[in-house]
Amino acid sequence: MSKDIRTEIIETQNADETFALGERIGRDSLPGQVYTLIGDLGVGKTVLTQGVAKGLGITEPVSSPTFTILQIYEEGRMPFYHFDVYRIGDVEEMEEIGYEDCFYGEGVCLIEWANLIEEILPAHYHRITIEKDLEKGFDYRRITIEEIG
Ligand code: ADP
Ligand code: MG
Repeated sequence: MSKDIRTEIIETQNADETFALGERIGRDSLPGQVYTLIGDLGVGKTVLTQGVAKGLGITEPVSSPTFTILQIYEEGRMPFYHFDVYRIGDVEEMEEIGYEDCFYGEGVCLIEWANLIEEILPAHYHRITIEKDLEKGFDYRRITIEEIG
C-alpha cells in the first residue's frame, strides 16, 4: 500500500495573511490532530501558531516556548499543545515532558522544528512547511500543508 499524501500550497504576502491561514487551521482542527511546523528562523512559524490559537478560541497571548519546549493552553474549545523543540538535545526529553499524552490526546498539537524529533512523530499528521522566496519580495511566504499517513 502506498503512502497517501495530500498537499495544499498557500502563498501569503504579509504576516496578517499567514495569521489568517493559521486561524482557519485552528477553526477546522479536530481533537487529536497533530501539525508539524518546519521553516527557518524568522519565517513565520510563531505568527502561524498565534493564528491557530485564535482559531481555537484562545485569547491569551501565545509566544514561542523556546525555553520550555511545551506550552499548554486550556482556554480554547480543546487543549492546545504548543511545542518548540528547537533546543531539544535528545528525544528522551520529550518522554520526560510526557509528549505521548499530547500527541495521542484530545487536543491539538503544533510542533515547531518537528524535523528534530522525526522518529517519534505519529503515523498520521499534517506537515506545514513555510519558505521564503526573496525574488517574490521580502514578506512573501510559500506555505505547504501535507497530510501524511
Ligand atoms: P519563527 O517563529 O519562524 O522564527 P516568527 O513568526 O517569530 O518566526 O517571525 C516572523 C516574522 O516575519 C515576523 O516579524 C513577521 O511580521 C514577519 N513576516 C513578514 N512577512 C510575513 C509573512 N508573509 N508571514 C509571516 N510572517 C511574516
Ligand atoms: Mg518561533
